[in-house]
Amino acid sequence: MIDDAAADAAASGAVGGVLDPEHPQGTFVLEPGVMAPLVARIATSEGSGMHRSMCPFTGAPLVTFPVSSAEDVAASAVRARVAQRTWARVPIRERAGVLQRLGRIVLERQSEALDLIQLETGKTRRAAFEEVGDIAQVARHYAVRGERYLASRRVRGIVPLLAGVQVHRRPVGVVGAISPWNYPLVLALSEALPALLAGNAVLLKPDPQTTLTALWAAEALDDAGLPAGLFQVVAGGPDVGEALIDQVDHIAFTGSTATGRKVAARAGERLIGATLELGGKNALYVTDDVDVDTAVPGIVRACFSNAGQLCVSTERLVVHEAVAEEFVAKFVRAVRNLHLSPALDYSAEVGSLTSAAQLDKVTAHVDDALARGARVLAGGVHRADVGPYFYAPTVLDDVPAQAVVMREETFGPVVTITRVDCDEEAVAVMNDSEYGLHAAVWSRDTARARRVAVRVETGSVGINDGYTMSWGSVSAPQGGWKASGLGGRHGSASISGVTRQQTVVTSRGARFGATLDNLYGLGGETPSRVITTALEAMRRLRMS
Ligand code: NAD
Repeated sequence: MIDDAAADAAASGAVGGVLDPEHPQGTFVLEPGVMAPLVARIATSEGSGMHRSMCPFTGAPLVTFPVSSAEDVAASAVRARVAQRTWARVPIRERAGVLQRLGRIVLERQSEALDLIQLETGKTRRAAFEEVGDIAQVARHYAVRGERYLASRRVRGIVPLLAGVQVHRRPVGVVGAISPWNYPLVLALSEALPALLAGNAVLLKPDPQTTLTALWAAEALDDAGLPAGLFQVVAGGPDVGEALIDQVDHIAFTGSTATGRKVAARAGERLIGATLELGGKNALYVTDDVDVDTAVPGIVRACFSNAGQLCVSTERLVVHEAVAEEFVAKFVRAVRNLHLSPALDYSAEVGSLTSAAQLDKVTAHVDDALARGARVLAGGVHRADVGPYFYAPTVLDDVPAQAVVMREETFGPVVTITRVDCDEEAVAVMNDSEYGLHAAVWSRDTARARRVAVRVETGSVGINDGYTMSWGSVSAPQGGWKASGLGGRHGSASISGVTRQQTVVTSRGARFGATLDNLYGLGGETPSRVITTALEAMRRLRMS
């Protein structure tokens, strides 16, 4: 289902998502042949209601699709449970094969995904490609390493030799994923792929604005050979998210801290596990020994990739006084030169904000800072000349600590500058936040930077790296501290959330009558004496 203008344009021969060269501010169109099969994948029944999304590049309608009801979500969960029972018995190498094929499909059909991602989010092609590259890598990682993460392990029992102890991992069953709009392909799949590999089924509720990309991910998994029912998309807003939590065995939520608290409370009522990937107010420290010319391009990327709508984006620059003058001058010059455009090619450096709500929030944060005496060094203006939700990359100086932009996540292209005299002060400023998602340190002295890093209260820290290498190192856990989350993704962390551990202990002495229960049968003080002697011997032998 598409709006009439888009249908007319599509009928005139447009393929995929294209920007009409005659009307750079005009309608982006999606071919009905692309859209209809995707929309048909939504788990929905007659009369559940409709949602219309818009294209951020133009503000014009993009697609109208049916949403799911609570009953639709329940029916999807039943289907998922049936499919999961068979899937959990499929050998892990076959399950890994699906992920291997998905990784290839995502790379081979990247132009379809890139168009959809750009049209739904308003981001640049470069930022859209980050999603394609990330999913190809995550798919390969779990296809290759997953078996090791899931392997049963032996541990020492209470009585060496007499107790054989194995710890197994079992899938929880049906995993629910709730995702935001900012990285719609990554966040549709990065929790789902390890969950599927571990033998679970997945029900995904994407943000309504980016439902098509999630449906494209479902189609790609289908084409990769995933059996029916194991990855389903339910569509809609918060009420559908709540209905989903009520049906699943684990919830993997990515979104704002405010919603994360509600999700955690609902999951708590049901006593199901919850992984929460939430907001941040990330700081980047520029030490006094940086080579400014080398540092500036990376730091600009750290602040303005995806127009700042990135959970691990830098929103607070903490700059050593000794280098501040040179750094700020060169940084501001580079920011002013960033190229904003809605192009569906690789020419743009900064794209659009994704919605009017995002634009309002960014504007409010900047206005509040200015009203409190902050100075604008770059940007600070709505760029309606480029598109309805474009906002100029913005650098704010002299921002008072009470300003909203210093404390709350802006999630837009706005960065503040704070000057410090030493590493000690830098650490204090970086940690002065309720959030603890990500941080970065820029220094020529990497040993010094690592000393700073381990004092920062965040789940990850990049050294001479904004976020690309730390996020992309998918063997390592990525997760927030403090109000930025619970649990984590990547590496073994994603597997822990979607599996239950089971301990199986075999008493090997049973046929010789040498079990602990037989010992207690000796009666009186004897069992206590024997156990005391054994514990004393274990202590001497340093056995744990
Ligand atoms: P949001 O919390 O408003 O919405 C996220 C998702 O939750 C959407 O699908 C929404 O429909 C759903 N939802 C809303 N209320 C719900 C409820 N009561 N019950 C169940 N589901 C509900 O988040 P947003 O503002 O759209 O997304 C941006 C936020 O996501 C930012 O704070 C950003 O930092 C965060 N984020 C974090 C990570 C990470 O890995 N830590 C990654 C990406 C984005």
